[in-house]
Amino acid sequence: MRIRANNPSPMTLTGTNTYVLTSRDDTSAVIIDPGPELSEHRQSFLAEVGDRELTAIVLTHQHADHSEMLGSVDQWAPEVPVYAVLERFARHVPTVSDGERISFGSDPGDALDVVTTPGHTMDSISLIHGQVLYSGDTVLGKGTTIVTHPEGSLGDYLESLQRLRTLLDQGAYTRIEPAHGPSIESPAEVLDYYRSHRLERIEQVKEALAKGATTASAVCDIVYSDVDPSVRGAAEQIVRAQLHYLGALSADDQA
Ligand SMILES: [Zn+2]
Repeated sequence: MRIRANNPSPMTLTGTNTYVLTSRDDTSAVIIDPGPELSEHRQSFLAEVGDRELTAIVLTHQHADHSEMLGSVDQWAPEVPVYAVLERFARHVPTVSDGERISFGSDPGDALDVVTTPGHTMDSISLIHGQVLYSGDTVLGKGTTIVTHPEGSLGDYLESLQRLRTLLDQGAYTRIEPAHGPSIESPAEVLDYYRSHRLERIEQVKEALAKGATTASAVCDIVYSDVDPSVRGAAEQIVRAQLHYLGALSADDQA
């Protein structure tokens, strides 16, 4: 069950998707990404949990539109373990790592398989349950994901896309539920597009460098000349990640 928070913006699309999955016997539940600190949103996902026992909360990555609600977790779920890659978010359990199985019910199938997918941020994970991949911000329901420097890494991101493609080919999942936007019913198409889009942008950055652009701002003027001013800052951060990937990040641009 998907519950969308009312935090739309150019960066969050229609808002952050919080997922509530229930156990096979319908007595327990897990929350993926509690989202932004909005009381209405909390009421919505807790209503979805209902009388079931909330056995786990899982965070796909650190960004506030996914994690902010954890700031008040003491009030709404004090005993519930929080699974996260970063120490500062993990509660009652050790930090999560690749290949871990997070159980949320008594049936062996009541589990989320953790696939670490760094890139968008270094702590980004995806989760597989019942042929569905919960991708966080690694893959979005619309448009493409941003990878910024130094929070994320383009090299890691490309590897993560490749890993998700391999898992898809192996039949590990058939559908993607992203943290923003609608379900992705044709993951192969989307993953391939993400990859080619990234590589295309990298080529454009190389061309801008060849034209003599030396700073992230100058490269941004050429490669992202068409972006809305409201997302210009994000575009420059993306360019920094691209320059870092190409080993061409100037000292002035090192964050
Ligand atoms: Zn994010």
